[in-house]
Amino acid sequence: MRHIELAAWLQEHRESLIAQCEQGETSDLSLVDNVLEVARTGQADKIDSTVGQAARQAAAQEIPLDRLLREPQSLKEAIWQELRKDKLTASKTLALIEAVEPIFSRIFQTSTRFYFEASQKMQDALASEIAHLHNQAERKVMDRTADLARANIELSKLEQAKTDFISIAAHELKTPLTLIQGYTSMLHEMGREGDGAVGILEGILRGAERLSNIVEDMLDVSVIDTNALSLRIEAVSLSQFISLVVGQNAHYIQERHLAVHIGDLGSLPRVEIDPRRLHQILGHLLNNAIKYTPDGGDIFIEGRSLPADRSVESGLADSNQFVELAFRDTGIGIAPEDRERIFEKFYRVGQSILHSSSKVKFKGAGPGLGLPIARGLVEAHGGRLWAESPGHDEVNFPGSTFHMLLPVRAVPKAGITVTWVEAPALGESEQQDK
Ligand code: ADP
Repeated sequence: MRHIELAAWLQEHRESLIAQCEQGETSDLSLVDNVLEVARTGQADKIDSTVGQAARQAAAQEIPLDRLLREPQSLKEAIWQELRKDKLTASKTLALIEAVEPIFSRIFQTSTRFYFEASQKMQDALASEIAHLHNQAERKVMDRTADLARANIELSKLEQAKTDFISIAAHELKTPLTLIQGYTSMLHEMGREGDGAVGILEGILRGAERLSNIVEDMLDVSVIDTNALSLRIEAVSLSQFISLVVGQNAHYIQERHLAVHIGDLGSLPRVEIDPRRLHQILGHLLNNAIKYTPDGGDIFIEGRSLPADRSVESGLADSNQFVELAFRDTGIGIAPEDRERIFEKFYRVGQSILHSSSKVKFKGAGPGLGLPIARGLVEAHGGRLWAESPGHDEVNFPGSTFHMLLPVRAVPKAGITVTWVEAPALGESEQQDK
């Protein structure tokens, strides 16, 4: 029944179909598709709207190339020819469809099988390649991990040997040095005014004192490294200690024509810290600012109190309040790659020839122990110490800033010995104490 209806319909719509199809090359494809579809399904009653819609769609948009290639071209051409000639009968349509369908389905089956086989092969090959690469990578990671573990053991052995050496050397140097200092002091006291030997003895005493400071630094480093530090913690006024340290260095500051500007530190709360260690930390920071700032430069010491929530943001403990101190100078600055390394013991930036030349000479660096000690001591109280600088430049002097965060309530590092000294209620400002 469907072919009779189809033939009748084609006949009836022949003129308009030809006219529609001739509007564009693509239209005939859609048209033929639809004719085939209707021939297959027998739904001739829907043909009118389907063909009209398809023809409009085909005219409006291009039919993709891959679809054109997939179409059984000969079938379409045949139908088209017949349609043009007004000779497309229902039986012809069916015969054409029936002739092409087995070929079409064979092509489809073969290509599907081929596709599945090829994709299976490809999948298998990929899977085995991935497994191979995975095994290789795993083996490499295991080898590297073993190498790293070995290197780590070696490194910690070296580190331990370094710490042991520093400790032994410092202890061995300390005794004879104390004897030299003692006897030289006695000779110095015995010397008479105007005696040439007095000046020489003073020189020996100065040298011995510098040596003694280095030995003390070596002892401190080994004590920090082995977590053998003992702290005597009390609540202290930072501004008093800063004034003290600046006063003690006044001679050097004058000698180098530097200006030290101390900000308003009076309102800072007292912090819990070992006063001897605080003195040491501030001394190292000020001494460095003096050494690495050219004559005529400036040093700024500023402080602020950080509320508990800001302290938490900064990555430090609980709801403790913190005080931030900043030592800013107009000196040679620090290159980005050295900003962390300067906190390693014995790390020295620049030419070692300039080292140990004098305690405050411009760029007269020491043995490279000041910053590791300062950081170790700050961290022992639960604080942080770090450096910021736009870079190292000995012409334009970009300067450096050393920031220190100190907890108002000390959070001593686990394992160290702490003695707490009775102190006034914490959080009180110095102004209240006065
Ligand atoms: P030292 O001063 O004894 O060499 P430190 O540990 O105190 O050792 O400092 C390590 C290095 O950090 C110094 O040699 C110096 O290069 C650099 N440094 C420290 N403070 C400053 C500063 N304020 N400006 C520029 N460089 C600095």
